This record gives sequence, C-alpha cells and structure tokens, in this order.
Amino acid sequence: MEKTLVIIKPGAVQRELVGEIIKRFERKGLKLCGLKMIQLDDSILAEHYSHLVDKPFFPRIVNSMKASPVIVCCWEGLDCVQVVRNMTGVTNSRNATPGTIRGDFGMSMQENIIHTSDSVENAVIELNRFFKPEELFNYSKVGHSFLYATDEK
Ligand code: ADP
Repeated sequence: MEKTLVIIKPGAVQRELVGEIIKRFERKGLKLCGLKMIQLDDSILAEHYSHLVDKPFFPRIVNSMKASPVIVCCWEGLDCVQVVRNMTGVTNSRNATPGTIRGDFGMSMQENIIHTSDSVENAVIELNRFFKPEELFNYSKVGHSFLYATDEK
C-alpha cells in the first residue's frame, strides 16, 4: 500500500489544530505508520523546498517553518498520496474548497496548515528525509477487511 508524508506546520501547531488534522486522516481510513514532533532547520528546509529556493518568498517560508516545532506523520492507504492531496486542498488556503483542511482552517497562501507529498515518487523521498526506517511501523488493523473490498489492494 502507498504511504505519504504529512507535515503539520508551525501555524497549525500554534493554532491547536493538531488533533483535528490527525482525526480527519484517521476517520478517512488511513493508517498511521509514524508520527513525531521535530524542530526543522535551514538545511532540511533547503532540501525539502529545493524547488522554491530561487523564489523571493523562500526566506519567509523557511522562517515560518522554523517558528515552532512541527508534527511529521506517515499515512498509509490505497492511493494514499492522491487521497491526502485531495483532503489538503490547493496551496492558497483562500481558494481551497470548503471541506478540505486548507479550505476549512486557513486564509493564507504561505500559512497553509499542512504540507503533503505531491507524488508517489516524492512521498518516498520525503518519508526518507524525515523518518528513519525504524520510526515507521508495519502493523495490521482489525478494521482493514471492513474498510476495503477484497479486490482493493
Ligand atoms: P504545496 O504545499 O501546495 O505542494 P508548493 O510546493 O508549491 O505547494 O509550495 C510549498 C509551500 O511554499 C506552500 O505550501 C506554501 O506554504 C509556500 N508557498 C508557495 N507559494 C507561495 C507564495 N507565492 N507565497 C508565499 N508562500 C508560498
């Protein structure tokens, strides 16, 4: 099954949205495979946002992402990367559809609540960036056979 990375950004930690965000992914039926609080630094952010280093707003993003600890988590499920992107909403929270996390909790382009991997390939790279292998867990959940049909693997 596919896995993806979610970072609950400093703004969401400060606004006490951590439980609400995790609850949404749990209720959807995604499996939590890893979770921790970490403080991001310049070097990991330069790597993580390497596609944006030349943008004028890059220093602002770095400062915002270092403003307090973040929660990094790994979720697993069928087509998990796209499912989580759909639940996240578009980058600019003001344009994000109501019902999505950014659409329900944000008003900003930059301060947009969570990061979520944008492709299956990037999810693998990003999970390796933020988790050691032993920090991700493979386990069975009792509800699995009620969550999926037998042909959905
Ligand atoms: P996404 O997080 O939706 O995948 P990007 O990878 O394009 O979006 O951008 C990474 C993060 O950089 C965004 O989540 C947002 O916090 C910030 N960002 C992107 N574009 C801008 C912008 N024009 N102004 C301010 N911050 C931005």
